[in-house]
This record gives sequence, structure tokens and C-alpha cells, in this order.
Amino acid sequence: MISVEEALQKILDAVTVLDVETVPIMDSQGQVLAEDIISGINVPPLDNSSMDGYAVRSADTTGATQNTPKTLNVIDTVIAGSISKNEVTPGTAIRIMTGAPIPSGADSVVQFENTDDPKNKDVSLNQTPAQVNVFTPVIPGQNIRYAGEDIKKGALTLKKGMVMRPAEIGLAASMGRSQVKVIRRPVIAVISTGNELTELDTPLSPGKIYNSNSYSISSLVKRYGGIPKMIGIARDDEKDLLSKLKQAQDADMLLTTGGVSMGDYDMVKDILARDGEMIFWKVRVKPGKPLAFGKIKSKDKDGNPRAIPHLGLPGNVTSCMVSFELFVRPALLKMLGKKNLAKPTVSAIIEDTVKNNDGRRVYSRAIIEKRNGNYYAHLTGPQSSGMITSMSMANGLVIIPEDNGSINKGDTVQALMLDWNEEVNI
Ligand code: AMP
Ligand code: MG
Repeated sequence: MISVEEALQKILDAVTVLDVETVPIMDSQGQVLAEDIISGINVPPLDNSSMDGYAVRSADTTGATQNTPKTLNVIDTVIAGSISKNEVTPGTAIRIMTGAPIPSGADSVVQFENTDDPKNKDVSLNQTPAQVNVFTPVIPGQNIRYAGEDIKKGALTLKKGMVMRPAEIGLAASMGRSQVKVIRRPVIAVISTGNELTELDTPLSPGKIYNSNSYSISSLVKRYGGIPKMIGIARDDEKDLLSKLKQAQDADMLLTTGGVSMGDYDMVKDILARDGEMIFWKVRVKPGKPLAFGKIKSKDKDGNPRAIPHLGLPGNVTSCMVSFELFVRPALLKMLGKKNLAKPTVSAIIEDTVKNNDGRRVYSRAIIEKRNGNYYAHLTGPQSSGMITSMSMANGLVIIPEDNGSINKGDTVQALMLDWNEEVNI
């Protein structure tokens, strides 16, 4: 049996960064930019006010105090989006709102709070007072945001390889870009196998269970930026499985759940070995030992032969989710062009004793909390790999090394964070 690291390396070696697509910026979140973007404009385009107040010549305010204010004649009001036709000459001021362009002649802005501009004014009257008293001096440039201060025309602001997050989407928008070139999202086909599986909104007959893996696994695909192609349930017979596999043939990756253990009807791995190439079966990990990986033969849309990376995930509800986090997520991120493929881990003090005697690395579902500056981890209770509730309670997986035997209460362990604390259901 191979180690977690060896298995992951074989999977990563079998996938490549995908090609480029152009998408509306609102669809690009989480995708990797595939072009350098140079700004065609200055942002902000003009010098403008960072305060509501009066645009003045700073020299006119020298020596102003509460008791000896400087009185200026108010000649106009300018609001954001408009340009004043007037010039601020010595002894005058223009009322100005945040974001409005600085009128010619002015070199600074005195905020309302440092003037006698009437508070509680009736905005609908849009009155410009004839005069204003300034109580505090300003220096040249005070309360002015200069043209190009944020983004200079001609500057490289978004670089190839950057991940599009809300800030990068806002940055693209502020330069007027509505579309960007990004590495496309992988389409990941998801098939659940099992004669016992029942599709949702259908009554359960004796011996049957609802198909939950298709939903948890497809949600993980979505969460990490892929496009799930939900093919549904394949029965444990060769004909049905082959027909479902056919529907997956244009996907970038195929995930099946179930059918990779030692049971009489566990035929996924046999078909992978027969109709493709089996790269490994079984990993020294718990849960998730029967993981199978290979490339299944397929055809592209032009009928040319190709091979799709196929991960045969175990059928147990938590085994397939943990296997996804460990092995599918990094591959998905690599296809998306991401560089950082690892989930964050923290050092935590474990509050349970965990036995580990069979030489596999154990990933135990746990609740990881920060208290008094330290992370603490406690298990979510029974660790049966068939229990989805324990996965729902967990926000992380405590790693029990394969060669250590056991971990005692109070030991420091590494915990792989599935979610940070704001999303924990406890
Ligand atoms: P298998 O690996 O096919 O033997 O499945 C292992 C266990 O996982 C069995 O108890 C199955 O009933 C269960 N299982 C398999 N597929 C699913 C699924 N799609 N949804 C929920 N449970 C499943
Ligand atoms: Mg099965």
C-alpha cells in the first residue's frame, strides 16, 4: 500500500493546468488570472476631495483659530460627479462633497467640522451660504486624493497567476474591465454506484438508502471552484456502469463513489483496470483505504481517444469526503492553475486519546477551537466512516501519524482545517 504523499503525487502527476477562457468578472471568483492587465486610465481620474468641506487656497487659512477664524466668500457648491466652472481665487471657497473634483485654484479642503457650515441643513434647499468661517488652517494637499494615486494609467495592476477574489474583481471593475481571461474551471463528473441507492424525492423501499455521496462530493467540487457534472446512480452491474461512464467522457476528471472494496459487486476498480490504466489501489490512510486511481479510456467531442483521470472514491459517506479533501481538492486546484494546493493546518492540543495500531495515517474528525491563544481539538465522537453527522460536526481533521501508534490527551497534533471557526455547526 502506498502512502498519502505517494498517492497524491501520482494523482497530481496525472493532471495538468487547463486552458484559458474569457469570463465576465462576476463569474471569475476563485479563478486564476491568465493575462496581465495594464490600466488604461488613472484611478481616480481627477484630483478629488476625501472630505465633505470647503475647497480653499491653503494660504487663506494660515493662522485660523476658533477665536480668530478666516472668513471666505463661498462662490459655488460642487458634488461628486460634477465639475465646478468656477475658480477658487484668494479670499473665496467652494463647498465640496467627498469624491467631487477639486476646483481650479484650490490646493486643499477644510472639512465641514472645522468651519461654521450649518449643521442639520435642509439638503433639499441645496443652499450655498454666502460666507464661511474657517477655524483651522490646512496645508497644501490636505484632504485631496490625487489623480492616479490608486492606479496609474499604464501600470500593471493585475498579474497573470493572481487569484480573482472580491478585491481583484473590484480592481478590474475600477479600471472598467467587465471580462477577464482566466484558467477555466474543471468539469468533474460524479457517479455514485450501488444497488441500494435511491434518488431523492423517491420513497425508500426496504434495504435502500438515499444517495448522499453525489451531493456531498458535487458540493465539494463546487466549493473548490470546479463544475460538477452529476451523472447520478450507476447500479452494480457492468452494463449500467459502462453507460454512466460514457456520459462522463467529456469531463476533465471522473469521480465515482463506492464499488472499490472487496465485495462481490465492487466492480469499479475492475472496469478501471480493464478499460483504462489502474495507477494505484489502496492507500495507507484511514478513512479511505480502498481509494483507486487511474485513467479511464474515453473519447473527446471529436471522437479522438483520450484518458480521463478517474478517482474511485470509497462508498462510505465520510471516507469519500475525506478522500476528496486529501486527494481530489489538490488535483482540482492544480487544474485551476493554483499554486497553493495544501489546506491550512494548525498545531492543536488534543483533548482525547486516540489509538492507531494498523500502520495507516488516521484523519479523525474533530472540532478545533481557539481558547486563550491555543488551538484545542476534540473528536466529534464515534469515528465510523459511515456516519455523516460526525462530518457535519467537524471543522477539521486531526492527523494521527501512521508510525506513532497512539496519541495521548494533551499531546500536540497537526489539524487540517476544513472550515474556520465561523462556520462550525456546534
Ligand atoms: P461500497 O464501497 O460500495 O461497498 O459502499 C460502502 C458503504 O457506503 C455501503 O454501506 C454503502 O451503502 C454506502 N454508500 C455507497 N454509496 C453511497 C451513496 N452514494 N450515498 C450514501 N451511502 C453510500
Ligand atoms: Mg457498493
